[in-house]
Amino acid sequence: MTEPAILLHDLDSAEVANAAKLLRFFGVESESVSLDEFLPCLSKSGTNDSKSVIGGRVICSTDVLEQLIQTIDQSAELSPWWKEQVHSVFVYSGADLQNLERLVRHLTQDDAEFDELPPGPIDFKVTDQLDGLCGAMAGIVGTASASGVASCHVLRTSNALAIDLISTAHGALFLKLTWHDVPIFLSTSRNIIDVDSILPNGVFDIRDHVASALAIVLYVRWAFSGTCWGPAEINACLVIDDPLLKPNYGFINFHELLLRMQQHSFSANVAFIPWNSRRSAPETVKLFKDNPEYYSISVHGCDHGRAEFGIADPLHLYAKSKQALERMTEHEFTTGLACDRVMVFPQGVFSRVAPTALKRAGFIAAANNDTIDSGPNPTATRVGDFWDIAVMKYDDFPIFTRRYPWEGIENFAFDILLGKPAIAVIHHDYCGDDYKRLADFIDRLNLLNCPIVWRNVGEVAKRSYRQKAISLDSREVEMYASELCLENRSERPIRYLIQKRESTPSLIKEIRTDSGRILWSENGSGVSFEVQVNAGETITASIGFNDPSTNGRYGESLPYKARMSARRCLSELRDNYWHTYRQRIADMFGTRQ
Ligand SMILES: [Zn+2]
Repeated sequence: MTEPAILLHDLDSAEVANAAKLLRFFGVESESVSLDEFLPCLSKSGTNDSKSVIGGRVICSTDVLEQLIQTIDQSAELSPWWKEQVHSVFVYSGADLQNLERLVRHLTQDDAEFDELPPGPIDFKVTDQLDGLCGAMAGIVGTASASGVASCHVLRTSNALAIDLISTAHGALFLKLTWHDVPIFLSTSRNIIDVDSILPNGVFDIRDHVASALAIVLYVRWAFSGTCWGPAEINACLVIDDPLLKPNYGFINFHELLLRMQQHSFSANVAFIPWNSRRSAPETVKLFKDNPEYYSISVHGCDHGRAEFGIADPLHLYAKSKQALERMTEHEFTTGLACDRVMVFPQGVFSRVAPTALKRAGFIAAANNDTIDSGPNPTATRVGDFWDIAVMKYDDFPIFTRRYPWEGIENFAFDILLGKPAIAVIHHDYCGDDYKRLADFIDRLNLLNCPIVWRNVGEVAKRSYRQKAISLDSREVEMYASELCLENRSERPIRYLIQKRESTPSLIKEIRTDSGRILWSENGSGVSFEVQVNAGETITASIGFNDPSTNGRYGESLPYKARMSARRCLSELRDNYWHTYRQRIADMFGTRQ
């Protein structure tokens, strides 16, 4: 399938460069040409002496589009070529506002009105009228921050064919127009987001980038749907940090929560503290084992000490990682309840070398809210790092990003639009209103315009990858977690060509599937291998790493152990008594927040 991306550059080429980087992020290579180079291609496309622009998806500024339209208007010869060869145009506002106004009035054939946005946050809505265009963002209502709509205008048109794609109470920020039968997607933003730009707090918030990111991503996901990277499915999981496996923990009653999961269709993963591995209540373990489609556990630190994965000593981190897994293995041995080998860092804190320790100890991934390490010179998180299925900047070990519900349904929807899994995180106190807030949030997530598959967090990690179809029976896949689950639901065998970024391939001991070791090779960015999956079959491929030359033991001192015991007791007193007592008092006086 060919879906050529053509960037028409002008004097201000920064946005064109940003568009090229953004396309490359989605796996689409583009060509940047001037208008003078493009017009001959348009009229001669398909002949031997020119490049083909058939099916071209054109990205340019309003300044360039205005010149293009003037040229085509003056040429009876070019107009039919335009209709035949150009698939669609994404146009962003150029430097000249008058050009923008003139262009829009020309396209809409009416007196379209322009306005500046009032200062401050602005509510926006994404249309649900165009099926297939807006994906998970369809129908989303959110509030853009002032910086999220900076350098853009709103416009109002009475043209019946115009469709507002992102609108505000003052007019549209992004709309679909049509010119000579070719759809024109017009963004009033002057900017296209730079995927290499740094996120100061390591978290991408679409509310801060509505104008520069949402419009272009909606267009790219739609216009290049046959050639850009996409997920095989959208997975989701709710992670609850800290609880012991007892019938009640703080505001959570696990029987009650199960009923809510059955009523509202979701699954929950307890980020379990390995220090508690000998304290699980048999009836709660049984509840988890009897309901594996709803309940699962992952690994939350080792002792859950303060910033225990924020230390810089790689061997100590490796020993902690190993000890965490040993405790969970012992827990599985005594209870029969297996855990997902996914790490949730205590307090979200990790050092630069912690991901390497986890990888070598046998974890398949981490799930965390924070994406920046705790070291004195932390590695910056760029937009592209965050937009990726998982953050891979730490030794190519995946950190799947999690969000709190109060970060807004628009952020979950945008993550899904990017192809990321939806991993939400709460603590027990979020259930303090008899699960009402939680149920409302889950309902909103399940109502998004996309099918969501709720799974345990380990399966979420294994099944979150990106793929592109090469042919009817072959796919290119980029894997993230150290284990990859491929399910072939088609009626023919599919050959998967799998790539995994890996900074140190020499650490790999083996790559295997259920049927044994398989051949793999190194390349410039990591390793690659092939797997064939027959119709209806599911195969798991896993990468195993060599242990470091250490016995994986690290004797903690007695004072440390005493401190950890005291810390755990105090945390549980706080969660089980102080939080619930405080709320009962608040309820009594009607002051609950
Ligand atoms: Zn915790």
